[in-house]
Amino acid sequence: MRAQPPASHYVGGAYVEDESGDAFASIYPATGETIAKLHAATPKIIAQAIETATIAQAQWARTPGAERGRILRRAAKIMRERNRELSELETLDTGKPLQETLVADAASGADCIEYFGALAADLQGQHIDLGAPANGSFVYTRREPLGVCAGIGAWNYPIQIASWKAAPALACGNAFIFKPSETTPLTALKLAEILTEAGLPAGLFNVVQGAGPVGAALSSDPGIAKVSVTGSVPTGMRVMRAASDTLKNVTLELGGKSPLIVFSDADIANAVSGAMLGNFYSSGQICSNGTRVFVHRPIMEAFLRALAERTAKIVLGDPMDEATQLGPIITKAQYERVLDYMAIGKAEGARLVTGGGTARVDALPDGLFVQPTVFADVTDEMTIAREEIFGPVMSVLSFNDEDEVVARANGTEFGLAAGVFTRDISRAHRVAANLRAGTCWINTYNLTPVEAPFGGTKRSGIGRENGRAAIEHYSELKTVYVELGDVDSPY
Ligand code: NDP
Repeated sequence: MRAQPPASHYVGGAYVEDESGDAFASIYPATGETIAKLHAATPKIIAQAIETATIAQAQWARTPGAERGRILRRAAKIMRERNRELSELETLDTGKPLQETLVADAASGADCIEYFGALAADLQGQHIDLGAPANGSFVYTRREPLGVCAGIGAWNYPIQIASWKAAPALACGNAFIFKPSETTPLTALKLAEILTEAGLPAGLFNVVQGAGPVGAALSSDPGIAKVSVTGSVPTGMRVMRAASDTLKNVTLELGGKSPLIVFSDADIANAVSGAMLGNFYSSGQICSNGTRVFVHRPIMEAFLRALAERTAKIVLGDPMDEATQLGPIITKAQYERVLDYMAIGKAEGARLVTGGGTARVDALPDGLFVQPTVFADVTDEMTIAREEIFGPVMSVLSFNDEDEVVARANGTEFGLAAGVFTRDISRAHRVAANLRAGTCWINTYNLTPVEAPFGGTKRSGIGRENGRAAIEHYSELKTVYVELGDVDSPY
């Protein structure tokens, strides 16, 4: 097996195995080949991870932020040096083209670890002057770590998700336990190795493998102070329910059905680029994708013409070939789900502009490839305009005016992201202000620099990752009241 790790889990600074855990495999979706065999964490492994993390965290919380930051920045440097190796492993685990993983996965993880490495020395409290009569009493606040935090990842951006969660947690003085998706277990283990090599003390970053039950065990364990999950809305709700018994802090990064609005004054070539990036990158398996593309009626046919022409040129193929632009779908179950949605789109009367079914790559006959697909004449009521597909399926809808399109764009239970293309600066900001979404892009789509907060509104989630905002989700304030005078007592 070409990507077999030394053992399934990484606990207390070393690989550990417990073969009594359920066996599972990591499959390369381009060929169906098994690339690694692992075991799910048993209760014993989970308890071991929580125990070692609890012990390590007490010391880490007392380590100066500047020192914590130095270790994180060293880890970011090592990640960049090994970017190709990490990217190749991510491509094997996910099937995403190397062209993408080289720039968007470990690279984004390194950016994030470096960013929070820089912030670690700058965690600040507040001084509040009470202006008290005699001796000037005051309050100060301290920003303190939460304890042992857990992260649960989706399969679409495995090392990026692990990094986006672990970096702020570690910067703030917490210990971390990460459960990758069972589908993509491998790169989190490499991240653990790298953090150890960078000098992170044992027990501060642990990886436990397994499916839903392992995530559920972490979500309910009283030894875990916080849980952050990236996944679907139903999973987020389950995690929040499980966390409620111990009143854990939660961050939920969930799904979406985001709108991308193209006004008639937009640069059409750029708008088409945005729509393609927001639907076909990572074979459409991105939470923030702009899968409802609202196009102003006067430019509809020009937009569709350019879109169809460029979509037809997308290069499907071997994900390991850097010329490949579109890889396979992650699993057979997800592949069938995407094909079902394509069939539903046709059955409900959407106009198929291009794609619409399976795709064949001759050298990879067992690969789970589907065609990049565009439906036009989609209406708000159609299933493909309401449900998250998580595949390369774009729905194009038409609109006549701004108020109408904003109301329709907001007419969803999700609120992760949104985009607007227009050359009218006032309209761009007005529309961005009126869209109910955690992130709005103006004249671009799906860029997520780690300096900017990212997260959802409505059912797309709670909390924010990245930016300074993430610090607030991995630390809590202690208020210290200081009395300089006598105690004013009626007794
Ligand atoms: P899932 O919700 O199926 O799984 C997410 C993670 O939760 C996996 O590690 C899964 O384990 C685990 N899990 C499943 N059940 C439970 C449970 N009861 N308690 C705790 N953990 C559990 O999502 P997918 O992996 O299928 O990812 C796709 C979804 O993720 C889409 O809806 C997408 O929009 C969303 N997503 C959101 C992002 C965001 O930032 N907002 C980014 C990326 C994706 P296992 O898979 O091993 O069974």
